[in-house]
Amino acid sequence: MPLRSDWSHRNCSIARGLDILGDPWALLVLREVFFGNGRFDAMKARLEVADSVLTKRLGGLVDAGLLEKRAYDDGRRPRQEYVLTPKGEDTLPVLNAVSIWAEKHMPAPADRAHMDVVHSGCGQRTTSADTCTACGARLTAATTSWHSRTRSDQPIQLSTAAADGAAA
Ligand SMILES: [Zn+2]
Repeated sequence: MPLRSDWSHRNCSIARGLDILGDPWALLVLREVFFGNGRFDAMKARLEVADSVLTKRLGGLVDAGLLEKRAYDDGRRPRQEYVLTPKGEDTLPVLNAVSIWAEKHMPAPADRAHMDVVHSGCGQRTTSADTCTACGARLTAATTSWHSRTRSDQPIQLSTAAADGAAA
């Protein structure tokens, strides 16, 4: 008979996934990168988080293979931003599910605190994490937008995994 510590950890894929995805800051960092906000200072401002916390989460997500660093030039000096890997992009249904569940069960403190998961192809809101409930299409980052009213009037098309060779 398995011990509690067996089924509660390595023998259960939910528990294994939570090794990475169970950390709230990790999911919020992924949210920012999906929103196209992968630069440290901008993420820090949006998340209102200490440098040390953000640095630790970014390092953990890079080590786990969900994010990678990519060089960019801000006109003054070379800098680095964080982009999704295919493994990171695969977390999209997890984030969609968290948002859809929260919209159903966690009251928003204000109208603008709502967020919709939108299928870009048909423009409709979906209430399923991986399939458009309006037209039946499978949702990928390339075909999904998030409409967070605290961010924009219109849905924002999500970032996808960096193309091969784009990472530096
Ligand atoms: Zn659709």
